[in-house]
Amino acid sequence: LAYLDYNATAPVRPQAMEAVLAAMREAGNASSTHRSGHEAAARVTVARRQLAELLSCSPGELIFTSGATEANNLALRAAFSAGGAIVTSMVEHPAVLETAKHLTRQQSDLLRLVPVDGEGVLDRDAFHCALAEGGAALVSLMAANNETGVLTDLGPIVEAAHAAGALVHTDATQMVGRLPIDLAVLDVDLLSLSAHKFGGPQGVGALFVRRGVQLPHHPLIYGGGQERGWRAGTLNVPGIAGAGAAAEAAHYGMADESTRVAQLRDALETALVEQIDDCRINGTAARRLPGVTSITFTGAPADAVLAAMPDVAASEGSACSSGAPGPSHVLLAMGRSREEAEATVRFSMGPGSTGPDVTQAVTSAIRAVRKVRAALSAPV
Ligand code: PMP
Repeated sequence: LAYLDYNATAPVRPQAMEAVLAAMREAGNASSTHRSGHEAAARVTVARRQLAELLSCSPGELIFTSGATEANNLALRAAFSAGGAIVTSMVEHPAVLETAKHLTRQQSDLLRLVPVDGEGVLDRDAFHCALAEGGAALVSLMAANNETGVLTDLGPIVEAAHAAGALVHTDATQMVGRLPIDLAVLDVDLLSLSAHKFGGPQGVGALFVRRGVQLPHHPLIYGGGQERGWRAGTLNVPGIAGAGAAAEAAHYGMADESTRVAQLRDALETALVEQIDDCRINGTAARRLPGVTSITFTGAPADAVLAAMPDVAASEGSACSSGAPGPSHVLLAMGRSREEAEATVRFSMGPGSTGPDVTQAVTSAIRAVRKVRAALSAPV
């Protein structure tokens, strides 16, 4: 199987697996005061430092959660509780969009959804209009889109949002561990991440909360006061240890790795565009993550294409909303028709991806698209 679905989840890195197993071999609640507790707490400390080094923040600015979904929920809920509007975009992950819709369900004027252009790039004028309406408590914009890989130029956004008195959150789930993020320079107040996107275990993530930021204390989960009262419950020591080890491994050699993966992605796109008629790459004119491509094979529904290429793991739009029926809201927001959105496949690559994976995906996709198109155009 050619695994080209790193944006859904990345294979666990060996270093992360080792760290998970090492933590599981020894009992220990990170809150206990005996030696086992101290050892568990020490693993958490190491992991917090490893993640902080990846992001250039301080370890004390990270709150461990069950993933980016929880981190996004926590960030939005806490910031919104201060009162004010949420400015976000039409192409956010459901973990942001649905949370924002839920929070503002009784005051829909407090939700301002900024559109994107045909390349998936945020409409800067519309963003400034949304801020100019005044009263924004929070701007939440993703660092990289999970379906297209399109990046958001966060620097100027942060500046404008702060000038308007809003906090800035970014869902950086798809960017962390893939491209550099330097929180000493990028002045966001809040950032969400999920370990399984960069080779850590599933079910663990973190919310970065910049020191000194006036965020109302509004946890989602109350209890024993862990994580400075922001996220109660016994810490997931093995998961956290795995997240830390994955962060360290991703950090090491990131520049070479992102170049290598971008070359694989470019090779995949070139081969598909050359050999399949009527296909279109979404977001090519934008700055994108290195390992992601979103391709529309006009007239070939993606579910049928994927079913016809069982030797390749790829996605229809995004795996995250695969339970939800209907075309991708991201592609619709980019102005694609329903048919185009439903004929779009996402391939995403990472550290384990190879040239032969790309060759296999190209061969299979060519065959699958031809087969699906032929079946649909055949006389009944
Ligand atoms: N945000 C983005 C951009 C994502 O791609 C994902 C995962 N698909 C999430 C949030 C949610 O992450 P998790 O499911 O690990 O909580």
